[in-house]
Amino acid sequence: MISVKSEREIDLMRQAGIIIGTTHNALRDFIKPGVTTLQIDALAEKMIRDMGATPSFKGLYNFPNAACVSVNEELVHGIPSHRVLKQGDVVSVDLGACVNGYHGDSAWSYAVGQVSEEVRRLLDVTKEALRQGLLQAKAGNRLGDICHAIGAYVNAQGMSVPSDYTGHGIGRAVHEDPNIPNYGTPGTGIKLKEGMTLAIEPMVHLGRPFTKTLANGFTVTPSDGSLTAHYEHTIVIRKEGFEILTKNWEDSYFG
Ligand code: MG
Ligand code: MG
Repeated sequence: MISVKSEREIDLMRQAGIIIGTTHNALRDFIKPGVTTLQIDALAEKMIRDMGATPSFKGLYNFPNAACVSVNEELVHGIPSHRVLKQGDVVSVDLGACVNGYHGDSAWSYAVGQVSEEVRRLLDVTKEALRQGLLQAKAGNRLGDICHAIGAYVNAQGMSVPSDYTGHGIGRAVHEDPNIPNYGTPGTGIKLKEGMTLAIEPMVHLGRPFTKTLANGFTVTPSDGSLTAHYEHTIVIRKEGFEILTKNWEDSYFG
């Protein structure tokens, strides 16, 4: 069942979203060569707790940490470790926060120091895929309009989206209905209604769409080991468009 949230519920999700956005703003300056993925997790957990929220992912499906930190070919669900980030890496940090029982969820990808032209383009395409999806997020459109906009844009750039990892509804639980694949057919799927809260999250592979899960049981990577990126915002559907609940420093990009 897909729920429509009240303004009171949306306000709690906005509070969670602001905490996540503020944490991403700090990570933007913190992430550089020499930092470990565990240090990123520690900073994120401290900030989320200091601002009065709880980290949504810690313990969710037994995930051990507050942040999913995925490096290079790791697509999602990277487990923070003593791995040291190197110049040229791309690191995706996925954060969830919960305020009074309501969640926000936002992933962002970061260039570590100077990156190659290829990595820069991967980041640009994935961020633009999120913008393309959001442009379709308004009351009266269909869910498939969002999915199609993301997938068609990514494929036209010669990159691919994973077939088996999706965005999702969000609110009282991190993962609610509906699933929001990063590909689809326009004009199909449920009709979007004002007050639906959704996590839109393009994941992009430089290579082919197939994935595998590593032996740790969490971390997902493309089967061909290609580089990946991941951008995600939690939004609420409004009459004329969308409101981003997890705003960060790149807010103006999404208009
Ligand atoms: Mg996420
Ligand atoms: Mg999500």
